[in-house]
Amino acid sequence: MAKLYSGVCHGLVEGAGLSCSVEVQGSGLHVMAQDQAPFLLSYHSLEVSFTGVGDKYLSCRGPAQGRDIRVLVPDKTIVEDLAASGAPGSVLSAVRKIEQARSKRAGLKFGVLIAFAAIAALLVLGAIAVLKAAEKRAVTLIPPAWESALGKVAAEGILAETKTCSNPEIVRAANEIGTRLVGALSSTTYAYKIRVLDAPEINAFALPGGYVFLNRGLIEAAEDVDEIAGVLAHELEHVQLRHGLSNIARQAGLMLGLSVLIGDLGALEQVLLSNAASLLDMSFSRDQESAADAAGVELMHRAGLDPAGLPRFLAILSSEEGLSGAIPSFLSTHPDSAQRSEALKAIVQRLGPGRRRPLAATIATLRGACDPVHTTDPDTP
Ligand SMILES: [Zn+2]
Repeated sequence: MAKLYSGVCHGLVEGAGLSCSVEVQGSGLHVMAQDQAPFLLSYHSLEVSFTGVGDKYLSCRGPAQGRDIRVLVPDKTIVEDLAASGAPGSVLSAVRKIEQARSKRAGLKFGVLIAFAAIAALLVLGAIAVLKAAEKRAVTLIPPAWESALGKVAAEGILAETKTCSNPEIVRAANEIGTRLVGALSSTTYAYKIRVLDAPEINAFALPGGYVFLNRGLIEAAEDVDEIAGVLAHELEHVQLRHGLSNIARQAGLMLGLSVLIGDLGALEQVLLSNAASLLDMSFSRDQESAADAAGVELMHRAGLDPAGLPRFLAILSSEEGLSGAIPSFLSTHPDSAQRSEALKAIVQRLGPGRRRPLAATIATLRGACDPVHTTDPDTP
């Protein structure tokens, strides 16, 4: 039994369409409309076309019963039935032409869509590039005073939780190392402050603006004062290279980029300060660690200290990692300490022995009784 297609028939009743069903037959379309006598739309005078929004219907138009009849069929598989029914060439070629035009149009639409998508992707990439540039610019725009304010907020957070070693010999020794290293920087806008924390973890870290912290646990793990100085040199270089600030800029991302783009420095400062706390659990990237390592070793060399101190300490850390399985946060990021140590040995070799000026501070001084005290102001020792 032939398939019945439902459709809408126009031209039978003045000004209205009647629902109808259509059957494809050998000589034409057999149309049955509600309350009307069935009739045939002969292929001889049939005009077919697609019509409606998105070519929703196949329109079959022709004379029947002395009227101009148009039948709209939504089920376009009727085209295949027409092709198989032996409809005369004129109808078939018209249907085929319509189909080709349709797929061409669809192809064109698809092409336009692709072009739009490509343009949109380019715009998004462009926007990302602009924002990335803005992030970088933000870092250069931020005055050192803001950076210090940012570091201070985070430093206050540390001091609220951890006591500082107040033994004057420890304070003096830490300051001597700090002063020696800072003196060897080509220039600096930061007032560095180095504190020894009464904390057992092997760790050291530096915050934007020059707040540097050295854990007692790290001093215990080190074998000589040059290793400790090496770690401090590495931390100082993180500050000099504004790594913490760059990370905050990346984290604040869009907001920061936008405030730079619209030139709103007040908003920029707010964005920074609202991200200050994240400085404490932020880890540096592989590139940042390598950069701080290399610059730290060169700083040690210029300061008249043994640049091999840093790679030696990294090697100790590497064995600690193996022993305890716990990774100290100082190296909680790649590249691992053994790799870093190896990479630095080459730089140390290239730098040569240099002119050494020994420190008065010794590992023994630094390992003295901590005399922990609770302090709140990161700026006053
Ligand atoms: Zn680091």
